[in-house]
Amino acid sequence: MKERTIGTDVLVIGGGTAGFGAAVAAGRQGLRVVLVEATSKVGGVMAFCPGMPWGGGYPVDRIVGGLIGELVERLRAMDPPAAEKRPCALHNFGPEIVYDHDIAILTMFEMLEEAGVDVRLGATAVAPEMNGAIIESVACWDRNGPFTVRPGIVIDCSGDGDISARAGVPHRLGDAGGNMMAVTVSFFMNDVDWTAAFAEADPYFTRLAARGVAEGRLHPDLARLYLMKGFHRGTVFCNSVHVRGVDGTDPAAVAAATQEGRRRCHQLARFLRSEVPGFANAWMSLLSPAAGIRETRRLEGVCRITGEDLARGTKFADGIVSCDNPIDDVMRADAGMTHDAALAPGDYYTIPFRALIPAEVANLMFAGRIVSADPVAFASVRGMPQCMTMGQATGTAAALALRAGVAVQAVPVGALVAELTRQGVNRLGAPAIA
Ligand SMILES: Cc1cc2nc3c(=O)[nH]c(=O)nc-3n(C[C@H](O)[C@H](O)[C@H](O)COP(=O)(O)OP(=O)(O)OC[C@H]3O[C@@H](n4cnc5c(N)ncnc54)[C@H](O)[C@@H]3O)c2cc1C
Repeated sequence: MKERTIGTDVLVIGGGTAGFGAAVAAGRQGLRVVLVEATSKVGGVMAFCPGMPWGGGYPVDRIVGGLIGELVERLRAMDPPAAEKRPCALHNFGPEIVYDHDIAILTMFEMLEEAGVDVRLGATAVAPEMNGAIIESVACWDRNGPFTVRPGIVIDCSGDGDISARAGVPHRLGDAGGNMMAVTVSFFMNDVDWTAAFAEADPYFTRLAARGVAEGRLHPDLARLYLMKGFHRGTVFCNSVHVRGVDGTDPAAVAAATQEGRRRCHQLARFLRSEVPGFANAWMSLLSPAAGIRETRRLEGVCRITGEDLARGTKFADGIVSCDNPIDDVMRADAGMTHDAALAPGDYYTIPFRALIPAEVANLMFAGRIVSADPVAFASVRGMPQCMTMGQATGTAAALALRAGVAVQAVPVGALVAELTRQGVNRLGAPAIA
């Protein structure tokens, strides 16, 4: 099979929320952008757990802004509206955005098209070819065989960081003990009587769940049920079935976890219908096509954001997105679910651009859940609005680097922050360099 070669300014690897942000931002800067996405849909985790709310969209009750703000406005302006801001029922989370999943995915793809992005679904980036500190090209595969992309800049938004790791960026899996957060298989229940279902004050349905576990009708990890009103009336998003100890970089482990999670979802749906008020006539839909992976490789950036940075409400001089999400940790090893507040009420922190660039490779950035963060900070920074905006920052930084002919480490951060602010990203700018 003849190998094909594509020259481009920017190669974005992965079409999740971060890759979407990176590709649209770079395309709008007039750059030639190729986006390779290994699956058949854009969205990443958003597509694997369809209908999951965009959490953390309103740090201290002000929209993050930028592309996520624009996307929400496009959806809200539709007739009928396809998105809505709502308070989150769970402890310590601020308002979130609920939306119609299919319309949101369609709109994101339209925004990629409008930005002139060359989107390739079913295309996997496999290995970088290095020339010293530069990624010269990236070997990719699609159904027609191998192809090579020769980019000016690579933005790794793959969540797992295969290409960054192979380019030599230091990394490790999960926390210091190698433990990663549990993976999740989600689903919706439709035709639920909301009034009956959400009559109790307990957002985790612990009384009923405990009975299900005690009677052996629910898996012991279902002692808390995460059931949230969906965007459409009478729908409930069930984000409850977590499978522990799965290495998300191992395809066989992900397949086994997907199947195990789906079994538990059906078990839970049966339990909801028979035991939980309001669910008697409900039916299941949008079961995850694959387990949603929260965490795999932890890349090392020029700067690593830490739990202490969050607790101090640090506003970095190169902060590119604001956040006030709690420490949303999910069943790492034998631990439970926690969402403790990350910082004082009414405060927020920002994520530094330096957490999106490696020390050594001159034309590589990463965005989204592979941001350089310690395990505590990671549990907070990983919300989709933040991932999308990290992508937006890297796509914008790519234009600054390419125009100036400098390495990504030399991007003038003042100009980057000013440009992101011009693009509508809120709460940037720092009182002092951290
Ligand atoms: C179960 C679960 C529940 C969550 N709940 C919420 C929530 O309620 N609200 C919220 O805001 N956030 C939530 N999060 C967090 C959030 O969804 C993720 O952190 C975020 O979506 C990550 O986006 P990303 O673009 O960085 O990575 P991903 O969404 O993982 O996207 C990476 C993409 O890259 C592709 N890819 C990987 N390797 C390659 C390759 N080599 N070549 C080509 N493509 C590749 C993948 O197919 C994928 O599409 C949740 C996460 C999970 C797993």
